Amino acid sequence: MVIIMLGAPASGKGSVAEILSREFHIPAISSGDIFRKYISNGSEIGKRANEYMTQGMLVPDDLTVQLITSRLKEDDVKEGLILDGFPRTVNQAKVLDDMLVKEKKKIDIVINLETPEEEILERITTRRICSNSDCKTIYNTVLHPPKVEGICDKCGSPIYQRDDDKLEKAKKRLEVYYKETAPVVDYYKNTGVLYSTVLSQSINRMKDEVAKDVIEYLKNK
Ligand code: AMP
Repeated sequence: MVIIMLGAPASGKGSVAEILSREFHIPAISSGDIFRKYISNGSEIGKRANEYMTQGMLVPDDLTVQLITSRLKEDDVKEGLILDGFPRTVNQAKVLDDMLVKEKKKIDIVINLETPEEEILERITTRRICSNSDCKTIYNTVLHPPKVEGICDKCGSPIYQRDDDKLEKAKKRLEVYYKETAPVVDYYKNTGVLYSTVLSQSINRMKDEVAKDVIEYLKNK
């Protein structure tokens, strides 16, 4: 099974992917996490990616595609995978199509999370993440705070705010999203796999409700 998560930053892609990963026993692969891992290792690749990430810009396609291609060759994706944060440009979507043909895989669903614009900025700037790279639980200081401030409920590690989730960078990322990534939704429009759905606090439809509907949809497909 191949699942693609689309949506603005902090629209809930990672949270929904986590639930689907548990349900279908397939790994959720976040391109942002891959970059952050290279950055924390202090590698040259990480340094190059960081130049773009710290400015709220997209990492160039050549580097992004290189890292995703090598990740998709690992053993754990044999039964399927969830891509969270890739593709983010129409070019990446085309490259992914070619990769999947080579691997004899096809996309089952492209989940496009639609979140009202006014909610997105607030969600980005109130997002917090567990610093333990094996946990990475996502919190929100308003909607879903940890029980003890600053500490992850699941593993007890400190939680932190990503530098690019701070207001000025978040605004830049949103601008980039509308320019570069929103067209990816159109790219999938005529493929029969696009599943657009609202994830919004305003209608009380959050990650659990969205994931439940997706699971039901996929099981009946
Ligand atoms: P994320 O964790 O998905 O919000 O990604 C954090 C940052 O990593 C983005 O703002 C980009 O700078 C970079 N990034 C993640 N995925 C991609 C991608 N598919 N293409 C280009 N840059 C990416």
